[in-house]
Amino acid sequence: GEHGVESVPHKMSPEEEEGLLSEEDEEEALSARPVQIVVAHEDDHAFELDEAALERILLQEHVRDLNVVVVSVAGAFRKGKSFLLDFMLRFMYNQTSCSWLGGHEEPLTGFTWRGGCERETTGILAWSEVFVVDKPDGSKVAVLLIDTQGAFDSQSTIKDCATLFALSTMTSSVQVYNLSQNVQEDDLQHLQVCTLMFLIRDWSYPYEHSYGLEGGKSFLEKRLQVKQNQHEELQNVRKHIHSCFSNIGCFLLPHPGLKVATNPNFDGRLTDIDDDFKTELVNLVPILLSPENLVEKEIGGSKVTCRDLVQYFKAYMKIYQGEELPHPKSMLQATAEANNLAAVAGAKDIYNKGMEQVCGGDKPYMAPDQLECCHANLLQVAVKHFRSVKKMGGEDFCRCYQEQLEAELDEAFTNFIKHNDGKNIFYAARTPATLFAVMFA
Ligand code: GDP
Ligand code: MG
Repeated sequence: GEHGVESVPHKMSPEEEEGLLSEEDEEEALSARPVQIVVAHEDDHAFELDEAALERILLQEHVRDLNVVVVSVAGAFRKGKSFLLDFMLRFMYNQTSCSWLGGHEEPLTGFTWRGGCERETTGILAWSEVFVVDKPDGSKVAVLLIDTQGAFDSQSTIKDCATLFALSTMTSSVQVYNLSQNVQEDDLQHLQVCTLMFLIRDWSYPYEHSYGLEGGKSFLEKRLQVKQNQHEELQNVRKHIHSCFSNIGCFLLPHPGLKVATNPNFDGRLTDIDDDFKTELVNLVPILLSPENLVEKEIGGSKVTCRDLVQYFKAYMKIYQGEELPHPKSMLQATAEANNLAAVAGAKDIYNKGMEQVCGGDKPYMAPDQLECCHANLLQVAVKHFRSVKKMGGEDFCRCYQEQLEAELDEAFTNFIKHNDGKNIFYAARTPATLFAVMFA
């Protein structure tokens, strides 16, 4: 019969399914490593999001509902991004220790980095381990580190690099834009939306602007000044940049020394790195990553959880796959869509968790009218949650998503009913065959 015991397996919500790891995955998850989440195909200039990889990272049970801090390092190849990220990892793994920089003879590992001038894959890499950090205000946040392997060189089109940069900027809360020696005019032109930190490597004019944040500030102010005789477009970029980023900073990092830059046998150990560089590194990394400085990702005035971030990645990816560079209007549309979808996912989660508590797999059979009553209450709570989340797109736009939410909750309820019915021995026993099975089990 339709309601036979065996025919009603426990139906999992998509979130539950996503959260499950096969044994293989679980083994993989044990060793933290960089994972490519966005791949750029050079032949046809297409970008591809590895949704499964992204979900394995962001939907891990212990982080998915935490507000996310996304620190991205972006820029051209061979400019020491991975090198810096590896020190950021050391900080994250040894937060509490004042010697987080590491042992003198310890090779540097993490995001792969290497000398030479070969290209690596273009795209976005994420560190597979999401760090859970307690902020001084008592809240817990999830910290995701990403490496935007830049296609900012001549082999790639302007669109590719602008797209990649925009994608990582839109999804991060702090974008570290890694540059060599000086800010070029065209570097400013790539910028279209978070906190933006210009990181200037190999700074060689400390007598004009000192190393670190202070010197960076005065340097940047000078570079961002709008002057009368500048080309109008450059003037616009300078004016625009302040409206795109909530906070803009600049840090001047000295040259790390010849061994780092040229010795093919250099393995990242501290003894081979210049002292000036190490001193500034010890200043820089906590500015980006110490608990009190972590900036949670916000979109449209709401904080974003790891789970939400998955939706934003998908939405932004979709629009960047188009032929043209996205128009700000379509960015706004995609953002509105994604934050409505994120609110739907959050509301569904509240409903499912609530229902699991009253009639989940380990709970006894419940009278149908009682179950219906629970459903009605939780539906109300879920919809209320959906409505309370700040969303973009206007009332009519949101109403469509609310209707979608209600339809999905009704469907989920149907499954909970079936599941509940399956526990009712009298119900199951209505068909003689199952009665037989139950009696002689
Ligand atoms: P990425 O491609 O930007 O990720 O660059 P990598 O981190 O792989 O580093 C490329 C090369 O630059 C390596 O040989 C590093 O030893 C070297 N390197 C790292 N940091 C710096 C720096 O600040 N200045 C210079 N000149 N070289 C660096
Ligand atoms: Mg790299």
